[in-house]
Amino acid sequence: MSSYDALIVGGGPAGLTAAVVLGRQRRRVLLVDADTPRNVNSSAIHMLPGREGMAPADFRARVAAEIDALETVTRVTGRVASVVAAAPGVAFTAQVEPLGADPIEVRRVLLATGVRDLPADIPGLAENFGRGVYHCPFCHGYEVSGHSIAVIAGGYFGATLAGYIRDRFSDNVTWFSHDGVVLAPDMQRFLDEVGVVHEPAPVAAVEPAASGMVVRTSDGEVKVDSVFHKADVVQQSTLIAALGLAMTPEGSVSVDGGQMTSVAGVYAAGDCARVDSAPGPSGFAATGSGDGQRAAVWLEQSLLREDVRLPAMQ
Ligand SMILES: Cc1cc2nc3c(=O)[nH]c(=O)nc-3n(C[C@H](O)[C@H](O)[C@H](O)COP(=O)(O)OP(=O)(O)OC[C@H]3O[C@@H](n4cnc5c(N)ncnc54)[C@H](O)[C@@H]3O)c2cc1C
Repeated sequence: MSSYDALIVGGGPAGLTAAVVLGRQRRRVLLVDADTPRNVNSSAIHMLPGREGMAPADFRARVAAEIDALETVTRVTGRVASVVAAAPGVAFTAQVEPLGADPIEVRRVLLATGVRDLPADIPGLAENFGRGVYHCPFCHGYEVSGHSIAVIAGGYFGATLAGYIRDRFSDNVTWFSHDGVVLAPDMQRFLDEVGVVHEPAPVAAVEPAASGMVVRTSDGEVKVDSVFHKADVVQQSTLIAALGLAMTPEGSVSVDGGQMTSVAGVYAAGDCARVDSAPGPSGFAATGSGDGQRAAVWLEQSLLREDVRLPAMQ
């Protein structure tokens, strides 16, 4: 049976960074990535210092090449089908497609499996998600400064997002509440004050135009340069449920300050995980990378303590 110090599941910013850190500590690492990253449809990564505007695929290929230069890391394109605790906190066996039927033995597991966005069931939203339909003003707001913008997102969150985009990026923002929400008077006052147009008619479709996007409702259509949409977010990997990891109320893997999950020896990093004390999930390339680095450092510490039987930290 092949054995490794660490199995890293997922090769986005979190998993790639962890592989670099652990590989450079001369740990034997198996990195498995199914190549379905969250930002697959996006043309450019923003807010990743030193890599501004780089295509996501180019970023991944570049870090993968850095990893391939390390003799300590084995990188596989495939899927981890199962992880089972052989001796909790000490050893796990994993089934990896396409490495054959033999299970692989690993001492630690890092889940960097990301999340999946589920745009609302409105024709055109999923098709254009990441290109013309954006999910996050932190990632993509700067590039659409001064544009005419439609915000398609329901409820209190949608109204707040529209107000935020009006305040930061554009004086031409139309909020499509799309789910028939009735606004509380103070929320309507807020939108009026910041100057957001509220369009309550349900959205029938979103379509690309020669330039920009068209939002169709039962009342007609509105032509805009860009659309923002808040999609639901779900875990990408079934390994998380299979391992029975403790979760935060919104569905992130709950981790401690060293990215350890509720199962000893299993760490989680990036969009799939959140430290309980954080006010909410925040999924970005740089934070994923930071989480991956933190997980790798503390995972390494736990291996070291096991190997040399260091006394507990004073
Ligand atoms: C459209 C869009 C644009 C974005 N733009 C930006 C931006 O400009 N700047 C920014 O900072 N952030 C941006 N983000 C957010 C950013 O993409 C994520 O925060 C980041 O990718 C999270 O990294 P991660 O490593 O946690 O997960 P991911 O990058 O999603 O990678 C997870 C990987 O795990 C793999 N995986 C899952 N399960 C398994 C399994 N069982 N076996 C093997 N592999 C598995 C998947 O195939 C995937 O490749 C954007 C997101 C979206 C949706």
